[in-house]
Amino acid sequence: MRTPVPDYLQEVLGGCTADGGAVADDVPELAAADPDRLAVALTTLDGVTYSAGDDDVLFTVQSISKPFAYALALQDRGLAAVLEVVGTEPSGDAFNEISLEPGTGRPRNPMINIGAITTHSLVGEPGLAGAARSERLRRGLSAFAGRELVVDEAVLESEMGTAHRNLALAHMVRSRGTVTEDPTVLVREYTRQCALLVDVRDLAVMAATLAHHGVNPVTGERVVGARVARQVLSVMATCGMYDAAGDWLSVVGIPAKSGVAGGILGALPGEVGIGTFSPRLDRFGNSTRGVRVCERLSEDMGLHLMGMA
Ligand code: GLU
Repeated sequence: MRTPVPDYLQEVLGGCTADGGAVADDVPELAAADPDRLAVALTTLDGVTYSAGDDDVLFTVQSISKPFAYALALQDRGLAAVLEVVGTEPSGDAFNEISLEPGTGRPRNPMINIGAITTHSLVGEPGLAGAARSERLRRGLSAFAGRELVVDEAVLESEMGTAHRNLALAHMVRSRGTVTEDPTVLVREYTRQCALLVDVRDLAVMAATLAHHGVNPVTGERVVGARVARQVLSVMATCGMYDAAGDWLSVVGIPAKSGVAGGILGALPGEVGIGTFSPRLDRFGNSTRGVRVCERLSEDMGLHLMGMA
């Protein structure tokens, strides 16, 4: 792998002019984001982070929280218990579809909203709920990032104002008995999980922790077990990039997750963690320039999981 120096990262950002897409507009606070922000960070598994561009701009983690909530649920409840409730198959549906597996009735995977809302309910020991469970999540994601993350209360409130679809999904899993708690409280706490603030350097460290088999390479803390990290990376590889997951895996070849605020997190097992940020989204909901940056990094540094071509 070529050494990822900041000059090189600056050059990658400079070459990344492809700029279609639009900032997410269904949540007022997200619609107000500066569309021209662009940043990238890489964290190596010896704990060094390189970054360029708007690398100190905070944005909400949104759907990028989903693999980490899944990791914590797996860690807290065990693989078998989580698999009983949430599947691992790509859905082929939009991220906010009511997408349940025929036969089992499980949400298809933890990366679509119905699966993520259900997964949120599985974090912590059985019985933990509400604010206490959200604190377990906040601390857990902070351990992945290696610093204390906080919630953007304005985004949380703004998003709750338009959360009708997620409320419908939560009512659906509640009606089936998949979750047993009040759907309104569950959606509020799930939305709080999505409203944690990160910058690209945080994303790169969080990714590197998964890539480093569950050990944060900066703090040295084992955050989750190696089996959990492998499970999370596998589901990211097949389901992480919304409906573009197949294209992404064949072109970029890195387990990844994107979020509606414009972040992308990529984790190459045993190699590196990547974070990008640019708020304009393509028609799949992935950051347009973030995808370009990751394509370029993968190509230049030979990061594709399936090898060089
Ligand atoms: N909080 C958002 C939702 O649940 C996250 C969506 C995303 O990042 O794709 O709708």
